[in-house]
Amino acid sequence: MSRIGIFGGTFNPIHNGHLKLAAYCRDSLNLDSVILIPDYTPPHKSGSELVSGDDRLEMCRLAAAGLDGLTVSDIELRRGGTSYTFETLSSLKELYPGDELFLIMGADMFLTLPSWKNPDIIFEKASIIAVPRDGDDNRVLLDYYEETLKNMGARAFALEKPVMQVSSTFVRSNICNRELVSEYLPGAVYDHIAKKGLYGFRDYAAIIRGLMGDYRYIHSVNVAREAVELARLYGSDTGKAYIAGMIHDITKEIPKDEQLQIIADGGIILDDVQKNAPKLWHSISGSVYIRRELGITDEDMINAVRYHTTGRAGMSLLEKIIYIADFTAEGRSYNGVEIMRERSRQSLEAAMLFSCQFFLQELSKKELAIHPDQLGLYNELVMKG
Ligand code: ATP
Repeated sequence: MSRIGIFGGTFNPIHNGHLKLAAYCRDSLNLDSVILIPDYTPPHKSGSELVSGDDRLEMCRLAAAGLDGLTVSDIELRRGGTSYTFETLSSLKELYPGDELFLIMGADMFLTLPSWKNPDIIFEKASIIAVPRDGDDNRVLLDYYEETLKNMGARAFALEKPVMQVSSTFVRSNICNRELVSEYLPGAVYDHIAKKGLYGFRDYAAIIRGLMGDYRYIHSVNVAREAVELARLYGSDTGKAYIAGMIHDITKEIPKDEQLQIIADGGIILDDVQKNAPKLWHSISGSVYIRRELGITDEDMINAVRYHTTGRAGMSLLEKIIYIADFTAEGRSYNGVEIMRERSRQSLEAAMLFSCQFFLQELSKKELAIHPDQLGLYNELVMKG
């Protein structure tokens, strides 16, 4: 008699959290094998970003290749329709009549078990193995088992601690940031996503590399890294922060006359201050360029590029992050950079006020015009202050 782990999921995409969980269950419960089963249509999830079953299956196969005791089944994809676990377990029980089945799942799924279709059939065919997904919910799982599932006839174990804190959602929304996601994805899965352009994958490093010299490229990578740090700290979308950071200076090295053409083509009429300040053009032309050439439609990202030089009143969290990251990124060296970095970790507004004060002084000393957007930001900061 074999002990077989059944691990179903959307696997959109499969990540190292899934793989570590499967290996951990295999080893700690002496399972002979664990079968990964990508579902066709998950009953519990809306699938707006769901890639094809073929891609998810392929990624599972690539991920499992060479891993001891891990296999992949297309049983649910072949069956089609809504992927009910009770049906899958019934088929597997027919395939492996003498074997013991263990259904593996994360805490989020475990806590919804009674609402699954025919839970009594699930509990009859398999024991449940639940694993916490964050810090300290092992006790919650055990209590839930005692109070709810046991009465329904379930046999369940709850593992001690999370194996790896990551989700497919996180991977999908940060897929363009190789540095960040490669820790969570097997290399072959990353390559498959990149090759097929899944989840909106785009190689922004390659895109900007062709448009700028070494100095600005390194600066852009540093701003993207810094923006991700700030996004984490202030609870913003790290995926958008990365992309906006990478492309914030995308047109800066395009000749000035071409930038003016891009701006005009975008239907933007420069005001008098802008006309006299070529240093402001790249953020305006950049916002047009990323919409037109890269097909970016996210208004928040477009505005983050558009206002990263002057700022403005009423900036969104992402706009503030890109504006500040441009000042605090590694490689920046100016009088006051350390204060700016320190303030950026305390409050975004404190850092923006510091930068505004610095700029207003510098511009007025040189008798240069100050753009109304910059004054608007300053006024807003001191009036709220
Ligand atoms: P999404 O973020 O799209 O909701 P997911 O990361 O939860 O996806 P699924 O494919 O839906 O991945 O998960 C399949 C199973 O794996 C579920 O039982 C889920 O609870 C579990 N699981 C996913 N990630 C982890 C993790 N890091 N630790 C423990 N269990 C996990």
